[in-house]
Amino acid sequence: MKMDPVRIVEVGPRDGLQNEPEIIPTDVKVAFVDALSGCGFDEIEVSSFVSPKWVPQLADAAEVFRRIARKPGVSYMALVPNEAGLARAAEARPDRIAVFTAASETFNRKNINASIVESIERIGPVVRQSPVPVRGYVSTAFHCPYEGRIQPEAVIPVAQALVDMGCVELSIGDTIGKATPDEVSALLERLIPLVGANRIAMHFHDTFGRATANAERSAALGIRIFDASAGGIGGCPYAPGATGNVATQALVTLFGNRTTIHWAALDRASAIVHPYLGRSTAGPAVG
Ligand SMILES: [Zn+2]
Repeated sequence: MKMDPVRIVEVGPRDGLQNEPEIIPTDVKVAFVDALSGCGFDEIEVSSFVSPKWVPQLADAAEVFRRIARKPGVSYMALVPNEAGLARAAEARPDRIAVFTAASETFNRKNINASIVESIERIGPVVRQSPVPVRGYVSTAFHCPYEGRIQPEAVIPVAQALVDMGCVELSIGDTIGKATPDEVSALLERLIPLVGANRIAMHFHDTFGRATANAERSAALGIRIFDASAGGIGGCPYAPGATGNVATQALVTLFGNRTTIHWAALDRASAIVHPYLGRSTAGPAVG
């Protein structure tokens, strides 16, 4: 049986580094993104234009974008929180932008000081004004550090609103890494008929070591896009000591030649940031 290709969106330079306690030198970030450009990804999330007050780790987003060597065929994405962020991002000329909200009311309040409805109103103008395609993140789609389990009924309207306003792709996030494969099935069985499997990326964190199993279950249900970070960098501010995004290496191991990622190049890219993270980045599924 011929297996469909799987796309891995490399989010290490943004989601990974945003959640690392250390602030990585700009030179290292540029070298990291440039190395990732040679790994076979068609999309890399480079940085975030969220206010540096909130995310000091990524305050140098504009400079990183200016200095990276863009490889033809690779899409370089920037996270943008609102219209001010879109204006800051303009000069960086990202190939794609990403907006974010969450399926948990309390998480949105604590994270961006807005209700879900307010957050959707805030990102609407960003999606409409963006000159490039927009990806929409839905955080805490399975569990919330404040509210606990988030039911599919809470996720569906948020996902639908993002699609309705014009997001071309959704990234459904298990932000605290607590989802189980059965919870993944419960959501995807509702979501896929509404928006189509080809527009859904799954974004797993590996806090409880279930990210690979969750990715495998998602793939069995038809999902072909996954977010991951080289070496599993990143953490989780709600679970101290937790591992970060699922390691790209773990997904390459899982999906094998269904992906386009070159293992040796990926390990070289991961090695560029390792010395700056203050701890080992090797997740349980790596190596
Ligand atoms: Zn994440």
